[in-house]
Amino acid sequence: MATGERIGVMNCWSCNKEVPVKKTPGGNLSAPCTWCDFMHYAKPGTQHFKNLHADVRLDPNDAPPPAPDKTPAPPAKSGVKYPHMR
Ligand SMILES: [Zn+2]
Repeated sequence: MATGERIGVMNCWSCNKEVPVKKTPGGNLSAPCTWCDFMHYAKPGTQHFKNLHADVRLDPNDAPPPAPDKTPAPPAKSGVKYPHMR
């Protein structure tokens, strides 16, 4: 389902979790939050678009592909990444 190209991530304006941001073929920014269902959406040329875009941390375009790690990463211990999700 190609609804847009991912350009980066932003923190949700509602719950502050990181959500991926897409740019639709029409140039709109689209970032539905998978955590709280808050829908970030903005049309280019609007102030809302500027506000939204200012919060986007763009993916690096020339990032080298992640090198495969030779040593397997240890399994993440039960951290407190999402302290409220217990
Ligand atoms: Zn959210």
